[in-house]
Amino acid sequence: LTIGVLKEPGKETRVSLNPDIAASFVKNNIKVLLEADAGAKAFHSNQQYEGAGVQIANRSEILTQNDILLSINLPDHETLNNLKPGSVIIGVFQPLFHVAKMEELAKKDITLFSLDMLPRTTRAQAMDVLSSQANIAGYKAVLLAANVFPRYFPMFMTAAGSIPPAKMLILGAGVAGLQAVATARRLGCVVDVFDTRPAVKEEVMSLGAKFVEVEGAADASKAGGYAVEQSEDFQQRQKAKIAEHAAKADVIITTAQIPGRKAPILITKEMIANMKAGSVIIDLAAFSGGNTDFTKDNETIVENGVTIIGDSALYATAPSDASKMYSKNIQNFLKLIIDKDGQLNLNFEDDLVKGACIAHEGKIVNERVAGMLQ
Ligand code: NAD
Repeated sequence: LTIGVLKEPGKETRVSLNPDIAASFVKNNIKVLLEADAGAKAFHSNQQYEGAGVQIANRSEILTQNDILLSINLPDHETLNNLKPGSVIIGVFQPLFHVAKMEELAKKDITLFSLDMLPRTTRAQAMDVLSSQANIAGYKAVLLAANVFPRYFPMFMTAAGSIPPAKMLILGAGVAGLQAVATARRLGCVVDVFDTRPAVKEEVMSLGAKFVEVEGAADASKAGGYAVEQSEDFQQRQKAKIAEHAAKADVIITTAQIPGRKAPILITKEMIANMKAGSVIIDLAAFSGGNTDFTKDNETIVENGVTIIGDSALYATAPSDASKMYSKNIQNFLKLIIDKDGQLNLNFEDDLVKGACIAHEGKIVNERVAGMLQ
């Protein structure tokens, strides 16, 4: 069995397989081919990979030999046109946002897995790339806010006077939001949290933050752990409460996303007009439109003295840890599709294999993606 690892396109800093996990594949008699310098931005040299038994190759060599192709982002057009027939490609392709592209790829004789489509079950946790990367993003969001915020985060009582603690508001207590709560608490912030899932209240409180309740959220218990869209009435009441808290906040971190949909606007123009000058918003939902009226992905905007930073890829600022966790997720997923003899064995009876598979044998096989094509 041969695994190929591609160098990621554009500004991506991560690599889909780090030398340690590559070494474990090589030990199990799996051949690993890595595109030259694929690990460079994550601080892994070609020599380190070679020391792990990996062969450095160029892209066309990889594409003629690989049985499984690893990447994070969707490779460029030319690469996709030259995928080896019968091969498996694994990454985080955000298929719900790129349905037409998925349909085009499905026509090739390949099997495509997108790990962001894994069901969010207990068994899936070890391969849950959304969680491993969101954890870093939540942590880094707080550090970024601390740098940009023109005041202290912790409370200080000194001979030169007292500094009150910064007030942080976190919207969305999923993986990124909870890590942001934990990091902000460690830095001494006072933290308020909103989420539409009342189930997170206990977790928020156990981290020392306050959970702000809005009654009547839509039941998301059948949405596989994800949020669902809320009623107009709920949204109005939630907005009124968020407005009260936003006016007092020094920092807001927003993480609210709904899979396959535009992110909900939770911080409006009017709320920003009432915020304190010098306050900071970090919007981690920027990729899917953002949670504020002003968010632009990968841009910093200053409005009414409020700095609004849109960044959905903060994990990229910790590329070796992000790659390490991504590689571990990949290793755990591959255990489901490689049998004890080291051969590819796709068992679609397994809910994780089925859930993450987008295309197989010339067709879109994922129900959520197929549903969006109708
Ligand atoms: P996400 O990135 O999709 O969303 C972030 C948070 O925003 C969620 O908590 C969501 O409820 C919240 N949100 C959405 N709309 C909102 C609104 N209008 N107002 C306020 N908050 C809103 O979420 P995620 O971090 O990927 O986690 C999604 C869920 O999956 C969570 O329940 C999490 O605990 C669960 N999960 C399960 C596993 C697993 O078992 N494999 C792993 C990770 C996460």
